[in-house]
Amino acid sequence: MIYLDNNATTRIDDLVFDSMLPFLKEDYANASSTQHKMGRRANQAVEEARLHIAATLQVNSKEIFFTSGSTESINMVLRGVYERYQSIGNHIITCQTEHKAVLTTCAELEKKGAKITYLPVDKNGGIDLEELKKNINPETILVTIMSANNETGIVHPIQDIAEICKSRNVLFFSDCTQSLGKQFFNLETSEIDICCFSAHKFHGPKGIGILFIRRKSRPIQIAALITGGNQENQLRGGTYNVPAIVGMGKAISLLPQTDLNAIANLRDYFEDRIIHEIEDCEVNGAHSPRIVNTSNIHFKHVRSSELMTRTIGIAVSSGSACVSGDRDPSHVLRAMHYNDERAFCSVRFSLSKYTTKTNIDQVVEQLKTNIKSIRDQSPVWQMYKSGLLE
Ligand code: PLP
Repeated sequence: MIYLDNNATTRIDDLVFDSMLPFLKEDYANASSTQHKMGRRANQAVEEARLHIAATLQVNSKEIFFTSGSTESINMVLRGVYERYQSIGNHIITCQTEHKAVLTTCAELEKKGAKITYLPVDKNGGIDLEELKKNINPETILVTIMSANNETGIVHPIQDIAEICKSRNVLFFSDCTQSLGKQFFNLETSEIDICCFSAHKFHGPKGIGILFIRRKSRPIQIAALITGGNQENQLRGGTYNVPAIVGMGKAISLLPQTDLNAIANLRDYFEDRIIHEIEDCEVNGAHSPRIVNTSNIHFKHVRSSELMTRTIGIAVSSGSACVSGDRDPSHVLRAMHYNDERAFCSVRFSLSKYTTKTNIDQVVEQLKTNIKSIRDQSPVWQMYKSGLLE
């Protein structure tokens, strides 16, 4: 299987896997049981992982909280900020192309009385920063905009957004799930107040994530989503998932070794071959800054569902994994002013450090063959070629 679905999840790195094993076998104690030596060893492993993570992100380890992943972090931030800041206001600003974890949670908050502004994007997937400024009002308690889009890879200017929010004294939360390991990332020089990551997107284990809450500049208050014991400063109760935390620490410490240029070159080579060797196809968001590994490609009049059924041995996606069971067209491509037809005929290819040139060549060859055969049998394609259809 050639795996080009790395925005959905990634293969666990062998070194990450090895680092987790002792904590699944002999060092299985509860990290909160610090009365005995085994518990203290587990606790030390958790705190070492926290230090690795803080060092990589260039923040203080007290600003790092462990959650089960970005969905939980997003719920915690949106619901927790809404609960704690109600005396200030009930207005949240987000964007139409956010991940469903943000959009669905916003819809839930609307039912509780929140006012949500969903900023539109242009054809290139970008938001208008003037529009953002105009929408911030005295009731605004939070701006939540993702760093990189999971379907298209399009990057938002989060440093600029963070500065706007700071100047207007509004909290800024960024879902950075798709950025870590694909983009240069330094929280020390940024004004982002809160952001989140999931380990399985950067060759770590599933079911573990990081929530960063800046502590230095201002006292940010978030109500706990999961209450229980005293873990994570009472912000997130529940027994520590020690093997997963250790694996995430290892995965993050391996990130500086990733050759981002190599992934970018391979992605560009892939797009170049597709554009030149298959007629009538186009990269969605080609004119925008994008993370290095993602290509979202529109193959005119070729339904992605049909293409993916025929393209055996290649794992790709027609959108986000979380919504790929949906029959609806991608909300991201629709927000970019593409019609349903284009949204249904687009495929996401996402590479990783394990992707090789041979993989790419094989994928291009399969796509060429399958797209030709689908189009040869398609009355819609014949009508398009004879000028009867757009
Ligand atoms: N946000 C983005 C941009 C994502 O791509 C994902 C995962 O697909 C999530 C949030 C949710 O992450 P998780 O499924 O690890 O909770």
